[in-house]
Amino acid sequence: MTWRNWSGSVECNPTVRRPRNVDDVVEVVEDADELRVAGSGHSFSPLVATDDTLVQPDRMNSIDVDRGDESITVGAGVTLGEMTEASGDEGLAPVNLGDVDRQTVAGAVATGTHGTGEFPVLSNYVTSMEVVTPEGDVEPLEEGDPGFDYHRLSLGALGVVTKLEFDVVEDYGLRMERRRRSLDEALEGFRENVRRHRNYEFFWFPYTETALTKATVEADVSGGRRETGWLENHVWRQLCKLTEHVDAAPLAKLASTAVRGKTKTGRARYVYPEPRDVRFNETEYGVPVDELPECFREIQEIVERHDTLYPVEVRFVEADSLPLSPAYGRDSAFIAVHRYHERSYEDVFRECEDVFRRYDGRPHWGKMHSLSPTELQQLYPGWREFLSYREEFDPDGVFLNPYLQRLFGVRGGGRYSG
Ligand SMILES: Cc1cc2nc3c(=O)[nH]c(=O)nc-3n(C[C@H](O)[C@H](O)[C@H](O)COP(=O)(O)OP(=O)(O)OC[C@H]3O[C@@H](n4cnc5c(N)ncnc54)[C@H](O)[C@@H]3O)c2cc1C
Repeated sequence: MTWRNWSGSVECNPTVRRPRNVDDVVEVVEDADELRVAGSGHSFSPLVATDDTLVQPDRMNSIDVDRGDESITVGAGVTLGEMTEASGDEGLAPVNLGDVDRQTVAGAVATGTHGTGEFPVLSNYVTSMEVVTPEGDVEPLEEGDPGFDYHRLSLGALGVVTKLEFDVVEDYGLRMERRRRSLDEALEGFRENVRRHRNYEFFWFPYTETALTKATVEADVSGGRRETGWLENHVWRQLCKLTEHVDAAPLAKLASTAVRGKTKTGRARYVYPEPRDVRFNETEYGVPVDELPECFREIQEIVERHDTLYPVEVRFVEADSLPLSPAYGRDSAFIAVHRYHERSYEDVFRECEDVFRRYDGRPHWGKMHSLSPTELQQLYPGWREFLSYREEFDPDGVFLNPYLQRLFGVRGGGRYSG
């Protein structure tokens, strides 16, 4: 069967297995030479790609809410959206979420998925998990266990996660104000606005000085509803298609004039997700937040030179201590460059990456990047320790595909060669 990721940039021809429970997973692992697990396929990097065994755990969708403990335990196939719905029904909610909630919880935490605001990447909220090891053992792991921080953000290289427990909080209402601002204002006020709001981010429209800011505070509101975004997505798709034939600059300017102030209110689960139906490819790096204005100006120049319609997105992620977290040890501004999926992205992403490198940027693991094992070792103080842990956990490299072998500098048989 052909498997494709969301954007269509990754394609492979695996033997797909769809386990119903942990026993099925054990059986699949015991049979496999090379095995990868797919979440919702929302990663742009080829983390999932394999022509061997692909586990699709979409039937493993148990959800167990613990109201007293303020935690929720979900099966490997459960999406962020399903998790937030179920916790909302019990008066609970995740502390933060990203732009969309179609990813699985297991997939989102494996790559360090983040929202914006003074919160760390979602992996930090995992408090326990069940993992099937390469030997087919079922291992329960919890906070404080050796190696747990590697498992919380593992790039899917440390076994099959069959279920995981996620910390949630008392449900809350949100008021999100979308406003048109100048880019200068958005850039200069970024850190202060992050402090003053629960969540804060902005999008800059290429070839203009216009930014769309999204500033969210907690509010005493009930209810709410999911936006379908049908019209916005439809119009946006037509503009994107036009860029296959005409210059992006006038279209980006036109799009920026449509930015209007708008307020969205409701319970957290209705306010966070924004419908994103037009497919794109993306690279995103976290840089030290104080370097944002300088770094952004360089990215701006590149994006405009490459005939780009898509706005550039800027978010804030709090420092943490997970060894493979892109925000390890530093408060970070994440800069995301998007490209309509029908247009080439290689040159513009490569040039942006050259800039991000100069600012010690660390890539989002689920988005496109081309860093080498040597560069990663310089960026992550815990890189070598992670590699040693992985080698001990999976010496035969069952959970490695060619992409991860390259990323980790591992040759066949799982031996570290760096
Ligand atoms: C439209 C769109 C919007 C996005 N918005 C954001 C955003 O706001 N913030 C952000 O940070 N990122 C965002 N992303 C990136 C996305 O959150 C990550 O790439 C995420 O990892 C995708 O989750 P997934 O369920 O699709 O997992 P996949 O992409 O399918 O897999 C990701 C990794 O998890 C592993 N994995 C999945 N399940 C398991 C399991 N049970 N056991 C072991 N390993 C497993 C896979 O093997 C792979 O290594 C977005 C992506 C798209 C396409």
